This record gives sequence, structure tokens and C-alpha cells, in this order.
Amino acid sequence: MKVVVIGAGIGGVALAKRLTRFSTDIQVTVIEPNVSHDFAPSFLWLLDGSRSAAQISRPTATIAEWGVELISERVTAVDTEARMVTTTGPTVGYDELVVAPGAEMTFETIPGLDSASSFYSKNAAAGLSEKLLGFEGGDVAIVVPSMPYKCPAAPYESAFLIDHFLRKRGVDARVRIHTIEPQPMPVAGPVVGGRVASMLKQRGIGFHPNQKLVEVDAAAGTLRFEGSDDRFDLLIAIPAHRPPAFVRDSSLAGPSGWIPVDSRSLRAADGVHAIGDVTAIQLANGKPLPKAGVFAHEQAHVVAGNLIATAKGAEPRARFAGHGSCFLETGSGKAGIAKGDFYAEPDPRVKMFPPSRLGHFGKVLFERRWLKQFG
Ligand SMILES: Cc1cc2nc3c(=O)[nH]c(=O)nc-3n(C[C@H](O)[C@H](O)[C@H](O)COP(=O)(O)OP(=O)(O)OC[C@H]3O[C@@H](n4cnc5c(N)ncnc54)[C@H](O)[C@@H]3O)c2cc1C
Repeated sequence: MKVVVIGAGIGGVALAKRLTRFSTDIQVTVIEPNVSHDFAPSFLWLLDGSRSAAQISRPTATIAEWGVELISERVTAVDTEARMVTTTGPTVGYDELVVAPGAEMTFETIPGLDSASSFYSKNAAAGLSEKLLGFEGGDVAIVVPSMPYKCPAAPYESAFLIDHFLRKRGVDARVRIHTIEPQPMPVAGPVVGGRVASMLKQRGIGFHPNQKLVEVDAAAGTLRFEGSDDRFDLLIAIPAHRPPAFVRDSSLAGPSGWIPVDSRSLRAADGVHAIGDVTAIQLANGKPLPKAGVFAHEQAHVVAGNLIATAKGAEPRARFAGHGSCFLETGSGKAGIAKGDFYAEPDPRVKMFPPSRLGHFGKVLFERRWLKQFG
């Protein structure tokens, strides 16, 4: 059986690893244009200098050593009728396709927003780290202009880490978050959101929910929201996330452009599964399952198990349970953990464990285990 995987991010790599490790009946082809595999959860550690860019990246080509055929091209179209994938290089046929290209990110949605710094890519985070090192004080505004975005905890983690880093440097800075969300991490419910909001308050970090950003004037250092204005000396923004163009243009796209899948099997169409950030999974409370690596990873294992079973002629029985956890780094070598059952009804059941050294060590282990598989 020939399985083609689009994308070698967290989902694509976890899937390729499983398939090559546990099956000899499957020929795996991965299509991925990026030569560097960057571990996104560690971008936050570039900000405070805990990691260098080289420490959190590995060559994508390593996966070819697992027995994967790696095509270093970009997918431009998918034809699910003909079971063919068009790329910037060859056209590739498949028996089973797994779509895992993550999300595309852009600052073009709001006038002036492209002047903002960010930490949503390795290069952006490395650039922001330089700015923080040279920052002489003033207002640091972290803006969440739209949803959905990857890792609901990341803007809050960045606020804690940046605040801690600038205090340690002895810089007089005021860190603020302006978000379109009604509370931090809304999918986790009001209790977890309230806990994070009170942690921000204790640290003197401003929190401004329900703010819709309309325009940025970089020269004047002003942010225009619907109904109010604010100022900044350093602006950091979370980019808008959208499905990759080839997904939006394909028969796989749902009304939002993301790919609707069966919430348990991740099946998107005949011979097609989708995993990770590109999927749209609606929870019992109507909110979408957050875009997070822990889910992409677990979904990859479910799909791999089912493809291995199918290749053997067995019943594909693996099901995604919707369980996951997420770290919230707070500085001083501590992290909180939000952990729970996101498929619980009528709302996700998520518990927040307060910041501890153990929490931070959990994230270090998570990083170590991920990068170790590249040798
Ligand atoms: C700052 C930050 C912190 C985060 N922290 C955490 C955390 O602590 N815990 C957690 O669980 N998650 C975290 N995440 C989220 C996590 O990184 C993503 O949810 C996860 O990477 C999604 O996996 P994926 O495989 O769906 O997509 P990705 O990992 O984004 O991989 C997609 C791959 O597809 C490739 N691709 C894109 N388009 C094409 C195309 N046309 N053709 C071929 N290939 C293509 C891309 O180059 C990429 O390599 C964080 C994210 C960020 C940005």
C-alpha cells in the first residue's frame, strides 16, 4: 500500500515514524518543501535566550533514513477522485493520503500589522529575541487579532517570559496583552481562563480582552481598536491563521476552509485522512478543538494504527480520544500545565496545575524526546 503524507511537521513526522517502524506492508512518501524541521513549542525559549535557533531545529532529510521517500517540493493541488497529488515537482499517486500541512500564517489582514514582531516562526522568534535584548524600556503590546491560532497558551506564555526576561535585565517595561478573545484560552473554560487572568494580574501584566484591532500606525506607535486606542514601544502580534491555499481550493475544504474530519478516525474522504492544525473538529460546546502539537501527534498515531491495520486486511479500530495537555511557561524555570478531556460533554474538562519546576521539566522532556528521534 502506498501512503502519501503532505507535510513533515509534528503530525507528518509522527505518522511517518510510526508507519516505518511498525509496518513493512506500507511504502511511505512524505512531501515537504522545508529543509529544516523546527520544533515550534521551543520558539518561546528563543525569546529569553534559553535556546539558540540551531538547538531546536533538525534537518528534514533525516526522515529519509527511516525508509521514507522524501519529496522536497510544495503541494499545489490534490485530486481525491484520481488519487493524485500535484507538486511543484512530480505528480504523485497514492492509495491512502494523509493531509498534514498545518496552517498558513499572514499579517496582511489588518493595515499596518506587518510592522509587528512575532514568535510564530523560528526566524521571527530569533529576530524578536534580538529586539528584546536591545529594548530600553516602555510599553510592550502583545496582540491577538484573530482566532483560531496555534497553541492557545502561547501568547500568555510569551507575556510571562518576556516580562521575566526584561525584569531580569533591569528594564522598566510594561507588558500588556490585547486580545479578541473574551478570556485567556476560552476553550478550556472559565475556571482555567480565570486562573490565567489572575496569574497575569499578580505579575502586573495588563490583560485587555474583547479588543478588535482595526489598524496599526507603526510610525506613531499606536494601535487602533474598535472603540479605543492604545500605544506601544514594541509591538508583538500573533499572525492570522488560514488553511494552506491548496487545501482551500480542494474538495476537502469545509465552509471555513479547514478540513472537516470524523472526530475519532480523522477520515476526511475516501482514501484521505487529515490530522493536526489543518483540521476543523467541532467540540460538544460548539468550539473548535485547539490547534496544538499534542493533538497532531496523537492523531498521527491513530491514523498510523488504522493504516497499518488496513494494509494487513484487519479492521481499523484506533480512535482519537481528544485528550491533551499544554504547558504554560511562566519564567524562573517554572511552568503550569492545563490538561484534560476536550471531547467531554457538554464542555471540555480541563484542569490547570499551578506553575512548578516539574511543569517546566515536563516541557524540557517533551522537547528532548521530540528532537531525539532525529538522532
Ligand atoms: C510559538 C508556538 C508555541 C507552541 N507551543 C506548543 C506547545 O507547547 N504544545 C503543543 O502541543 N503545541 C504547541 N504549538 C502548536 C504546534 O506547533 C502545532 O499545533 C503543530 O506543529 C501542528 O502540527 P501539524 O503537523 O498539523 O503542522 P506543522 O507542525 O505546522 O507542520 C506542517 C508542515 O507542512 C508543511 N507544508 C505546508 N504547506 C505545504 C504544502 N503545500 N506542501 C507540502 N508541505 C507543506 C510545512 O512546511 C510544515 O513543515 C506551538 C506553536 C507555536 C507557533
